[in-house]
Amino acid sequence: MHGGAYNFELPALGAFLRYLILSDIHANLEALERCLDLAGGNYDEVICLGDLVGYGPDPNSVIDRVRSLTQIIIRGNHDRACTGLLDPGEFNLLARVATDWTRRQLTPENYEFLRKLPRGPAALAGFQIVHGSPLDEDEYILSPAEALPNFRAMGGPLVLFGHTHHQGGFSLSAKSRSQCIRCSRLPNDRAKIVRLLEGHVYLINPGSVGQPRDGDWRAAFAILDLNRKHVEYFRIPYAIAKTQAKMRAASLPEPLIRRLEIGR
Ligand code: ZN
Repeated sequence: MHGGAYNFELPALGAFLRYLILSDIHANLEALERCLDLAGGNYDEVICLGDLVGYGPDPNSVIDRVRSLTQIIIRGNHDRACTGLLDPGEFNLLARVATDWTRRQLTPENYEFLRKLPRGPAALAGFQIVHGSPLDEDEYILSPAEALPNFRAMGGPLVLFGHTHHQGGFSLSAKSRSQCIRCSRLPNDRAKIVRLLEGHVYLINPGSVGQPRDGDWRAAFAILDLNRKHVEYFRIPYAIAKTQAKMRAASLPEPLIRRLEIGR
C-alpha cells in the first residue's frame, strides 16, 4: 500500500479477532451509545475511522467515550477542520457553521487530542484503516469506478474506510470487475454478513454512526471477525428526537437537524 502507513503500537494484537468498527460518529452521543448497546460484548477491540465530531451536539462527550473504548483512532476531515488542520473554507456554509460551533465547545484537552490523531492509512494485523481512501484521506469512494484505483493501491486484502456515510463497500476478485456491497434496508435485529473470500480484496465501509447518508436514518456500524473471516453490518434506531433537540438548543443549522431523520 501507499508508503509509510501509520503503525499503532498495541500489545498482543494477535489476541484481537473481532473488531467493532465505528466511523463518522459526528458528535452524536445517542447514536453511539445505541451502537455500543447492540454490539454488546461481541468484539475484542474497537476501531474508529475518524470524524468523531462535526455536525452533532456532543463533541466532548463523544470524544471522551471513544477514548475510553480504544486507542485505535485515525483522523477525519472534520476532526482536522475543527482543530485548524484543514481550512473550513473547503466546507459548505452549514458545515462551516457546525465546525465553528464545535471548535468553541471543545475542551483544550480534547482539542489537542483531535489535533494529534494520526492520519490514515494505518496498519493493523492483516488489514489497514483509512478515513477516505487508501490513496487520499479526503477521497470519497462512492462507486466501483472510484474503488478500482484504490484496489490497485492496496498492499493487502482488506481496507476499512469511512467518509461517505454509506454502509457497504466494494469487492474485487481476480476474475471479476469490482462490485458494490449493498446494505440498504437491513432489519434492526438481524445483521447482513459478508464473507471475506480467499483471492478477493475488499474495501469495507461500516457506515456512519451519527449521520447516515445512505437513505436510512438509523445508526450504522460493523463488526469484523477475522476468525470467521466475515464482516457483519448492523443498523439500529436511536433517540433521534433527543439529538435533534440538543442541536436546536445549541442553535445548530436547521437543515443539519432535519437531515438526520431522512438519512441524507
Ligand atoms: Zn464524516
